[in-house]
Amino acid sequence: MNSKGRVAIGNAQRTRLLQEVGGICPFCGLELIGSLQIHQIDRVSSNTIDENLLAVCASCHEQLTRQLIPDSEVFWRKRALQNGVHPVRREKPGMNVSGTDNRGGIIAQEFHGKVVIEGATNRGPIILSGSIGDNPDLYRYVEYLIKRLTTFRQAGESFGQKRRGKIHAGGTRNILANEFDNLPKDLPVEKFDDLVLTLKQKIDNTALGRKNHAQGIRNYHAFEEHGRKKKK
Ligand SMILES: [Zn+2]
Repeated sequence: MNSKGRVAIGNAQRTRLLQEVGGICPFCGLELIGSLQIHQIDRVSSNTIDENLLAVCASCHEQLTRQLIPDSEVFWRKRALQNGVHPVRREKPGMNVSGTDNRGGIIAQEFHGKVVIEGATNRGPIILSGSIGDNPDLYRYVEYLIKRLTTFRQAGESFGQKRRGKIHAGGTRNILANEFDNLPKDLPVEKFDDLVLTLKQKIDNTALGRKNHAQGIRNYHAFEEHGRKKKK
């Protein structure tokens, strides 16, 4: 079959790619038995090296083909797999997650949170495994900084800063999403330091942030302080 959008690859390669994902779709966690498709990461049909291919389920392949999933997300999932870490793990009662030999090489203990995607057609709020949103401590701190930045941006008004429309946390999140190609909660945990640094710089660069700084007043808690303070 060589219809448009289909990649012609041999059985051996297909098997390798299936093994790479441990038989589980790296986007939604579906078992790929009976639903295996191969996504071409760069969409160049002649580029059929393993690095450019990703085994996925039919439903996610559809979304990938329609470019409903950002490239950045495809890249980090492929990278995780190449590093031997499966980006999705479905919690299964009784499943041995601490063993070293579960599910064909999936390193389950690398994941702290729960990935739950109920059914391929019902796409409600999704928490990506290995994302910031999947890690409560990181997520709390990021949300704290987002609210902090929002407050500082709002305060800008009293310093004569120009603004368009009402400032709210959603707008702050969208600014970050534009910069990082993804909503803060959906970014891989490896992006946490970048994200935090960007947020701190933005806070420091607001009028209130600069005023505080000049007066020796801190603009935010450090991550470590924050975690302890909020813990109850
Ligand atoms: Zn899928």
